Amino acid sequence: MTQKAPTLFLGHGSPMNAIEDTPWSRGWRAIAARFSKPRAIVCVSAHWITEGVRVTANAQPRTIHDFGGFPPELFAVQYPAPGDPALAADIAKRLAAFSAETDERWGLDHGTWSALVHMYPDADVPVVQVSLDARRPPTAHYAIGQALAPLRQEDVAIIGSGDIVHNLRAFFGGGGDNDAGDRAFDDDIVSAAESGDHQAVIHYRSHPQAAHSAPDWDHFFPLLYVLAARGEGESAHVFNRELFPGLSMTSIGFGVGA
Ligand code: ZN
Repeated sequence: MTQKAPTLFLGHGSPMNAIEDTPWSRGWRAIAARFSKPRAIVCVSAHWITEGVRVTANAQPRTIHDFGGFPPELFAVQYPAPGDPALAADIAKRLAAFSAETDERWGLDHGTWSALVHMYPDADVPVVQVSLDARRPPTAHYAIGQALAPLRQEDVAIIGSGDIVHNLRAFFGGGGDNDAGDRAFDDDIVSAAESGDHQAVIHYRSHPQAAHSAPDWDHFFPLLYVLAARGEGESAHVFNRELFPGLSMTSIGFGVGA
């Protein structure tokens, strides 16, 4: 029997986590040690936004340095994990109802590699990215996650990479004026994820803090894919629980043990 791979939401925070030894980069290494190396990874990153669902089909995806103002060491990072064109084609077929298409122009963006460089430093697990279709509402993103869920039975891990609290204006402005609100938002989303109240997460915009804590849908939506891929009765493993002004590293795994 093929082993069942986990599904993980990773709060990725600053790209610098890719090259720094931080509590969070250590958290990513620790989570990877909790389960067997999967056959492949499907990653939905906050940093790939398209019109229509796209699936990376490159045999050797390039490392994309999709940021500015960081030191040369970060731009020098290469993450040469292979792609999996057959898996990409399979995913496009599974997502036919969402008009998904394979793509060879994208590669691996930092939402994906900044964590994987710690989880699998040898870059020996094939990675396929699925884009965020900017035209669709949260319910559709959740539905796409449900369509991806059976891949876990085929030892394909499903990762969503974003940040539950993500307000860069507050982050770069030093913030500090709404820490309690951000904490409440992060806590409430984690509680909903733990208890299986997925509707509360899908409809997060009705949370009184959402406009401040999660103004950028792109960093929040990857969580919807992970919750949708959760298996019956799987409990949440919450880790990297750190909140900065305007940014949380909070990460949640299912199928990684209690
Ligand atoms: Zn990001």
